[in-house]
Amino acid sequence: MAKQTMEIQVRGMTCDNCRRHIKGSLSAVDGISDIRIPDWHNGQMFLVVDANVDNETVTESVRAAGYSRDVIGRRDITPQRAPSSSRSAENYDLIVIGTGAGGMAAAIRGAELGGRVAIVEGGTLGGTCVNIGCVPSKTLIRAAAAFHTAGHSNFAGLKMSADGADWKTIVSEKDSLVSDLRQAKYAGVLEAYADDISVFHSWASFTPEARVALDDGRQLRGANIVIATGARPATLPLPGILDVPVLTSTSLMALDHQPTSLVIIGGRAVAPELGQMLARLGTQVTILQRSSTLIPDHEPEVAAGLIEALRAEGLEIHTEVTPIALQLVDGFKEVVADVAGERRLFRAEAILMAVGRRPNVERLNLDTVGVDVDTRGFVKVNARQETTHSHIHAAGDVTNGPKLVYVAAAAGGIAAANALTQPGSTLDLRVLPEVIFTDPNVARVGLTERAAQDAGHATKTSLLPLSYVPRAIAARNTIGLIKLVADQATDKLLGAQILAAEGGEVIQSAALALRFGATVADLRASLFPYLTQVEGLKLAAQVFEKDVTQLSCCAG
Ligand SMILES: Cc1cc2nc3c(=O)[nH]c(=O)nc-3n(C[C@H](O)[C@H](O)[C@H](O)COP(=O)(O)OP(=O)(O)OC[C@H]3O[C@@H](n4cnc5c(N)ncnc54)[C@H](O)[C@@H]3O)c2cc1C
Repeated sequence: MAKQTMEIQVRGMTCDNCRRHIKGSLSAVDGISDIRIPDWHNGQMFLVVDANVDNETVTESVRAAGYSRDVIGRRDITPQRAPSSSRSAENYDLIVIGTGAGGMAAAIRGAELGGRVAIVEGGTLGGTCVNIGCVPSKTLIRAAAAFHTAGHSNFAGLKMSADGADWKTIVSEKDSLVSDLRQAKYAGVLEAYADDISVFHSWASFTPEARVALDDGRQLRGANIVIATGARPATLPLPGILDVPVLTSTSLMALDHQPTSLVIIGGRAVAPELGQMLARLGTQVTILQRSSTLIPDHEPEVAAGLIEALRAEGLEIHTEVTPIALQLVDGFKEVVADVAGERRLFRAEAILMAVGRRPNVERLNLDTVGVDVDTRGFVKVNARQETTHSHIHAAGDVTNGPKLVYVAAAAGGIAAANALTQPGSTLDLRVLPEVIFTDPNVARVGLTERAAQDAGHATKTSLLPLSYVPRAIAARNTIGLIKLVADQATDKLLGAQILAAEGGEVIQSAALALRFGATVADLRASLFPYLTQVEGLKLAAQVFEKDVTQLSCCAG
């Protein structure tokens, strides 16, 4: 008998017992199996039903248990890649390796689609973002910002004295936030899905038959597998590295004392974010960047503005620096470097390497199953998150895509959907907003002027210094700018780059404008609330045709 998955919405569930009542009632009906209610709060339920069981039969059964429901959809689950038919303990429709954002999204989507899911985690539940990435870095940045504002407010009469940062307390508060969020957003969620997702605490590797081997010798069989093993900080193999311990973003955020001085090798997102955070708490910070500017893939005006803002806060920034070696001298650590042909030494108590990420693939035995990786070791996937093995998908930082948590989560969901139902969903990265959480924020979406021209557009641009944005003026913080890039012929917005306090909040409006094909004229014609930072987008749109000094109040 052909089977179908039904997704239904049940009204009236108020506790976990309701879930049991409904399941009990439905399991008494012939032809209904695999009843899944991942979370009674939202009333969503998935059933596998024989094709001859009609909607009315299901409705009656739910009503008999004392609840009402709406059918949201009913679809065939005879997929191109059939779920495993065997139901023995070690057989799954979907096995996910890794519990970061990519893995969690894949597992949850798999369960929602009615699959029997296993998720395997070898390290700390939750992966990078919650434990050692976004969450700890952003709460430390926020703590340092509060400390900095207390000491450096631009409001006359509001200067407060900062008593000195208490690194130990800041780190312990960070740790407790991490632990709360790990429980709420990862452990707790997996508990809620306990009926549908089995959790295995083990490192995973592939056997030649494409089974997933666990540390205790057990093997899990999955009709489909999603690799979501993430990445870890890379380090440069410089001479001296074995004798001179260096920090990565992970170990820096776990330090038990704050270094008095820090040299950072690297100049993309992590270096300025963590560098500014520590500088604001009192560390003397020096950033060494190989290319001619920090954040070289952003608009040059934004990169230059960021460097100026960081230097104004006392960070030393050197560009066109090639690190050559590391050495220990008088108890200090030194980076030996070439700067414009000259040998220079940069000395500090600690060195942070912020030079990118390496994929976590070594344990997996990808060779044995024929999953190809690129030259840097990242798993090759297409927009459907398919690898070179027909039953193995991959998502998140382990792949050759952008290393951002929301991309990992979106990719994980797509991987699971494509694995379990008809393949076809793709990850659309055409409008990808990104934020670097320095102060001012660096935020961008779409094309830079150069990229737009390389793509064949005849461009027009507008550049609005933040000193023309009322919100910035009122906040007495006018550092930064907004740059818009548009197509000359069509007037369509192609990109927005922002250097501004709260720039991370502003960028999503530009992202929506791009997504829905807005023109510069559309931005000009829209109402923006006064005084908000996002109003800067409208002002920047006006600057395409007006002299910036002639703009009146309220973006008129
Ligand atoms: C300092 C820092 C700050 C960041 N800030 C931001 C930010 O502000 N915004 C943003 O969008 N992104 C940010 N990121 C990036 C973001 O954290 C990652 O893109 C995201 O967490 C990747 O998720 P993932 O699921 O791909 O991998 P991960 O979260 O790394 O999860 C992979 C999991 O797989 C497990 N694993 C690995 N190998 C195996 C194996 N063989 N068997 C079993 N388990 C295995 C690991 O233990 C890990 O738990 C930041 C990253 C860092 C380092």
